[in-house]
Amino acid sequence: MKKNTNYPTIGVLGLQGDFQEHIEILTKLQIPYIKVTSSEDLDKINGLIIPGGESTTIIKLLKTNNIFKKLKKKIQLGLPTWGTCAGAIVLAKKVTGLKLETLKILEIDVARNAYGRQKESFSADVSIPKLNKNRFPGIFIRAPKINKISSKIKPIAKLKNGEIVGIEEKNIIVTTFHPELTQDDSLHKYFLKKISH
Ligand code: GLN
Repeated sequence: MKKNTNYPTIGVLGLQGDFQEHIEILTKLQIPYIKVTSSEDLDKINGLIIPGGESTTIIKLLKTNNIFKKLKKKIQLGLPTWGTCAGAIVLAKKVTGLKLETLKILEIDVARNAYGRQKESFSADVSIPKLNKNRFPGIFIRAPKINKISSKIKPIAKLKNGEIVGIEEKNIIVTTFHPELTQDDSLHKYFLKKISH
């Protein structure tokens, strides 16, 4: 298939979780991508998506595949990075309900599986003023809750009750919902705009 060769390469962390759904959106948008499974792959990318999945498994595999330290450094040095759901947990400095060490990059406190068992999954309208969207289709699957953010961090997405479900700080975006499971690719396009040519 034809790829947009003027565009930089996006990495999709492909260790576990729903990376394939992100890849499908990038393919539809004709954006070059690679599936990141090794530390060498990190040298080939201009931006990274950390997908939803199981944060414990993703963190363990980042360590066993020797990606953890280099990834942390790259993101701290400015690699545009978007974490969805479990990806948000992997990036957070403080996580309730997780014994493993995360990348500890973003000054947010998140609580894993905070929406409880009965409501493990739900859909809700998300408002994203930056995209002029009042009703972005938010799909929440055993999502974490963002309980606290530092003053440097901008909320970019909220539920109707005001709860923050998406944030941005410099090169990093985090959403606790799954845009890759919807037909709406506007957040993907927004992330792609953060990546310099
Ligand atoms: N509950 C998962 C975790 O703690 C995240 C769920 C998801 O990514 N959809 O890692």
